[in-house]
Amino acid sequence: MSFGLVTGEPAAPESLAVVSISGHPFGAMEPAGPPRPLSDVRLLAPVLPSKVVAFARTYAEHARELGSEVPDAPMMFIKPSTSVIGPGDPIRYPRQSHEVHHEAELAVVIGRLCRDVPMSRVPEVVLGYTCGNDVTARDLQRSDGQWSRAKGFDTFCPLGPWVETQIDPSDVRVTCTVGGQVRQDGRTSLLLFPVAELVSYVSEAMTLLPGDVILTGTPAGVGPLSVGDEVSVTVEGVGTLTNRVVGRD
Ligand code: ZN
Repeated sequence: MSFGLVTGEPAAPESLAVVSISGHPFGAMEPAGPPRPLSDVRLLAPVLPSKVVAFARTYAEHARELGSEVPDAPMMFIKPSTSVIGPGDPIRYPRQSHEVHHEAELAVVIGRLCRDVPMSRVPEVVLGYTCGNDVTARDLQRSDGQWSRAKGFDTFCPLGPWVETQIDPSDVRVTCTVGGQVRQDGRTSLLLFPVAELVSYVSEAMTLLPGDVILTGTPAGVGPLSVGDEVSVTVEGVGTLTNRVVGRD
């Protein structure tokens, strides 16, 4: 098991290759072996965050579909590091819930230890972007009154398939499909708060460490998942993250 560098064109899967790197991806990346076809490699979650900081109601249409006010300021919460899984890993449906929802999101991956980062310097602390699914037990989110359990179950934070270091996140399409049917289809240009503002806002409250992840909120169209569903989150310019929902027992 190691970190690796994925090269090639996501639109042409046969062109994708992986080179292992020595150490971690937060400094100069030194290749440590020959390139291998991606199909010969099992991808894990691309980072092991100390924390996943997520935002609620950052898209007006999604706030309205949940009957919430459109907020004046960003509202954040934390998903535990133990909720993170990688591409292809199963999302386990908890027995405590009867209403588990998908939330497709652009995920920001932090590359440097930082705090109090002004918006203008956010690009210096971002390693890149990946796809995130902020899986949520909607019934428990309502009944608990706060969200730690509803959003914190093991497997409730799929991330991947890799970290894209070359995109501009200001206007990329974010989609979710379940069983091939499109459920969510939004663009980050509709964010009420730009990505740089969200990163800066978090950093004014807490130190961010390399590998920490910020989930930027979900566009409209959230809805239920069932055991057996295959759910995919696609971020334009990044790739597609696919996970299957399984029962806990
Ligand atoms: Zn979310």
